[in-house]
Amino acid sequence: GATIGILGGGQLGRMLASAAAQLGFDVLIYSPEDDPPAGRVAAGAFQADWDDAEALTEFAQACDVITLEFENVAVASVEVIEKTGKRVLPGAKSLSVSQDRMTEKTFLNAHGIPTAPFREINSAADISAALASLGGKGVLKTRREGYDGKGQAWVYDAAEAEKAWAKIGAMPAILEGAIAFECEISVLVARSVTGETTSWAPPRNSHENGILARSVVPSGLSKAVEDEARAKAMHLADELGHVGVLALEFFVLPDGTLLANEFAPRVHNSGHWTPEACQTGQFEQHIRCVAGWPLGDTHRLFDAEMANLIGDEGLVDPATLKANDVLTLYGKREARPGRKMGHITRRLGPRKD
Ligand code: ATP
Ligand code: MG
Ligand code: MG
Repeated sequence: GATIGILGGGQLGRMLASAAAQLGFDVLIYSPEDDPPAGRVAAGAFQADWDDAEALTEFAQACDVITLEFENVAVASVEVIEKTGKRVLPGAKSLSVSQDRMTEKTFLNAHGIPTAPFREINSAADISAALASLGGKGVLKTRREGYDGKGQAWVYDAAEAEKAWAKIGAMPAILEGAIAFECEISVLVARSVTGETTSWAPPRNSHENGILARSVVPSGLSKAVEDEARAKAMHLADELGHVGVLALEFFVLPDGTLLANEFAPRVHNSGHWTPEACQTGQFEQHIRCVAGWPLGDTHRLFDAEMANLIGDEGLVDPATLKANDVLTLYGKREARPGRKMGHITRRLGPRKD
């Protein structure tokens, strides 16, 4: 059996490792964390820092192919691994483009995928100037490393520029125009080593306190809008030469116009319902991509709803579970506020459309 290496040891790595094990692969996890959730379902775990060239080299030599569940792995670390002759999938391009919101939005727009208007911000003074050109209301976001709404501040007035700049830590940022969206959806797409692409039905996503709370399929949008979103995500995967799963988030305007928000070059929380509701789920599909296998059928069989268990919600009393709740817990040792602990997928019945 071949060995698949996964960079990152969180819940996404854990679910990827389970899917890989089902397909007969051994999995090794690389994570700076001691006792990461993914390590406990894998054949082994390397504990070392992201920039430890010696450890990365040793890890790569123990694997046949390497993938990732954490998108902020430095491109330099990927290059260290590639020096051993082992491939990292997806490639460095998907990482470098998505790691910086400025590069990401510029790339999307350049490839015919419109986003919210945005401006580069390097000082509080830049915010006041940009705000006027964006209609007076915007979202300030650090260019790098934000997630779950961290590193963001809404700006409603030029007088709030200093406060917003301080709130995000006075870091290189972008200011985006505030979008009055009807709803948010995401498209999960998988691209194989031969360039074959498949996508899943786009879930409708809702957030609470900046964190994804639930994803529901069907989205309730027209087939035309869904097909356009899927085509855009597949086009993005092609343009990146991406291999594996990728998730592209969209704002949907009341008239059906799609504005891309951001993409993740990996499996994604908004696709956690796919294993229960579709012929092939995102984790299995990603492993198929990385292993160089043909892709599975993404056909959706059920209407479904996925709810995240955040913080104390992860301390689930099994007695409260409904018979059709499919529970996934991430095996985290401690429930902290805002921490993703698990999720429940509920099949709502056979697909109706
Ligand atoms: P994630 O956990 O998805 O990686 P993130 O921290 O990278 O989140 P975004 O996805 O950019 O942040 O924003 C989080 C949420 O904030 C969005 O899903 C949306 O609900 C809201 N939001 C972000 N940007 C805008 C905008 N320009 N206009 C309106 N709402 C926005
Ligand atoms: Mg994000
Ligand atoms: Mg997002």
